[in-house]
Amino acid sequence: MQVLNYINGKMQAALNGNTIDNYEPATGHVYGGVPDSDEADVNLAFEAAKAAKISWANTPAEEKFKWLNALADAIDADRENFAIAESRDQGKPLWLARNEMIRSAQNFRFFATAAMQFASESHAMENKAINYTLRQPIGVVGCISPWNLPLYLFSWKIAPALAAGNTVVAKPSEFTSATAHLLGETCVKIGFPAGVLNIVNGLGPKVGQAMVEHKGIKAISFTGGTATGKHIAATAGPMFKKLSLELGGKNPNIIFEDADIEKALKTSINTSFLNQGEICLCGSRLLIHESKYELVRDRIVDEAKKLKVGNPQLDDTRVGAIVSKPHYEKVLSYIELAKQEGGAVLAGGRALQPEGCEGGWFIEPTVIEGLPFDCRTNTEEIFGPVITLMPFKDEEEALAIANATEYGLAATLWTENLTRAHRMAANLEFGIVWINCWLLRDLRTPFGGAKSSGVGREGGWEAMRFFTEPKNVCIALS
Ligand code: NAD
Repeated sequence: MQVLNYINGKMQAALNGNTIDNYEPATGHVYGGVPDSDEADVNLAFEAAKAAKISWANTPAEEKFKWLNALADAIDADRENFAIAESRDQGKPLWLARNEMIRSAQNFRFFATAAMQFASESHAMENKAINYTLRQPIGVVGCISPWNLPLYLFSWKIAPALAAGNTVVAKPSEFTSATAHLLGETCVKIGFPAGVLNIVNGLGPKVGQAMVEHKGIKAISFTGGTATGKHIAATAGPMFKKLSLELGGKNPNIIFEDADIEKALKTSINTSFLNQGEICLCGSRLLIHESKYELVRDRIVDEAKKLKVGNPQLDDTRVGAIVSKPHYEKVLSYIELAKQEGGAVLAGGRALQPEGCEGGWFIEPTVIEGLPFDCRTNTEEIFGPVITLMPFKDEEEALAIANATEYGLAATLWTENLTRAHRMAANLEFGIVWINCWLLRDLRTPFGGAKSSGVGREGGWEAMRFFTEPKNVCIALS
């Protein structure tokens, strides 16, 4: 597939004509190109967004609702094509890509409704004055997304930005631009108003950096690695841009002795390995009460060995390919590091080449035990199909281990003890706590991380508030 930018209502190549090779993770072969855009394309996209700004801001909520729903309908109607493109581009199993396309359409539908329902506050001061808050669109905003859940996260940012009345310059990851290209084509097909959404493809340090540095782009919503987030904050901070940063994680998945073990095990296999472990919410550290340690360990190891790693297009594949060669090498290097740090590999640990996918980047689901809680393997984000196991003796120790990382995105815990569940939830230093479930999402809830996992929250009104500028208007009554 030859990916194109979508600027001012048109699909177009980078102005400099250059492209970046796009690799298929399942084969390791180049199968297309992505525009190697630069500052000039960002400027062009910005000018289109600026020209469309006033008319989109003044478009009635009913119309915005109609347009966002039209995007959702078009993605739903073309779901299989989107899913095939996503799976091929990212390496994820096709069945999973299909689910993510449902959610991508849902993101547009959800925020279409938000456009209709968004309201603001008023504050009456006895009989002296009345204040009301105007929540106005910011203007032109930037959305930058990562490669792990490409369209799912791209739409999660674009939809609220548009619903709140902004025009958008957006950049998908250079590793996974295929579904952003299809979204651009969809906009053309349905006649989406020109300039309201603009998609610029290319490398982070060129296109992303130009967006962050652009004086006219007043807010940046970013999802990606913590190091990139730090760099963006250092650039955008002195420019006083509004920033929403959704960053990395090192999430604990805690199984207490009183948990429904069968249920915990069934979900934990997904928590550990869904999407090759390339979900920021995956539980990469499995903490198990010492009385159930052997039982849970043996079952998790068994289940991990049974997961079929293979061609992402096949229905029975549970684990697909790792997104890129550099990331594949990074994950393998962490398995080596775990061994050097004294870890015992109980399952997986190796690269493999499934039939028909020779040359692809595949790694076996890997389970490691015997590492101290504060070693690098247990504190740094690996973002692959690798989990570590750690026993704990009581609630206090579980909490201490869980919190012993700079990250604070999501924690999962399994217990039938109601008061323990609430105590743990209050004391875990994470933005999201799942109790007896994982990745159960209500799109109205605040989504994001604490500590080095980010700043700000997405989802529901949080996203609508991020993408608007509140203005207090005070009227004296006498
Ligand atoms: P990344 O930080 O390398 O890239 C993310 C995006 O930023 C890409 O589009 C990239 O091109 C762009 N970028 C790179 N350098 C830039 C710069 N200097 N200025 C502006 N943009 C730049 O992250 P990745 O490797 O694509 O994604 C994996 C990371 O994302 C993991 O750390 C994962 O935990 C995190 N993530 C977090 C969440 C969350 O909600 N917290 C969700 C998904 C992924």
